[in-house]
Amino acid sequence: MSDDHGHDHPKHELSYYAKRIYAMRDLLIEKGVISEKDIQCQIEYQEARTPANGARLVAKAWVDPAFKARFIADPKAACQEIGIDATAINEFVVLENTPQVRHMVVCTLCSCYPRPILGRPPDWYKSFNYRQRSVSDPRGVMREFGLELPDEVEVRVHDSTADIRYIVMPMRPAGTEGWSEDDLAKLVTRDSMIGVMDALPSLPE
Ligand code: FE
Repeated sequence: MSDDHGHDHPKHELSYYAKRIYAMRDLLIEKGVISEKDIQCQIEYQEARTPANGARLVAKAWVDPAFKARFIADPKAACQEIGIDATAINEFVVLENTPQVRHMVVCTLCSCYPRPILGRPPDWYKSFNYRQRSVSDPRGVMREFGLELPDEVEVRVHDSTADIRYIVMPMRPAGTEGWSEDDLAKLVTRDSMIGVMDALPSLPE
C-alpha cells in the first residue's frame, strides 16, 4: 500500500473530477461511512468481472445442449450454476446468432452493458458514434470490425436499458469439433458477445 493510492498523488496533477472523487472518498473514510478496505474489495470485485465470464458461458453452451437451453431460458440461473454472479442485472437476455440472424447490442441512451458478464464496456461502446451508427448502419459498423454479412442475413439491433442487458451468443466456429471448453472459450471475444463480430475462427495448426 503506497503512493499508487489517490490521496498521495500531488493534487495539481489531477483533473477537477478526479480531485472531487478523492475528496469525497477521503471524507467518507474520515466519517467512517466506508473503509479503505471496502474500497479495495470493491475495486477487486469490479476488476474480476471480465469477458472471460461471458466466454465461459458461451463455450459451455456450445458443448452442452442442455446447459445451452437453460442459459437461454434463464440466463441468471445458468450464471449461478457456474459461479458467475449476475444478480446485479435485472433482466438478462441471451441472443443466439444463427446463419440467418445476427444480433448486435447497443445502449443508445448511455452505456448500459452486462458488466457482471463482460466487465467494463470498451470506450467505443460508449461513444456517440457507435450509439448512433449501430442503429442507422449496423452492417457498416460490423464491416469496420471485419464482419461482412451477405444481404440475406438479417441483422437485429437490441437497445439495452437500465432494466434489460443482453449478451450475444456467437456461432461456434467450424472445425472446432471435439475442442475442450477452455480452448473454445479462447475463441469467444468480448466483441463477439456484443455482436459486432463473430467468434474467432479456428485456425489450422
Ligand atoms: Fe445505458
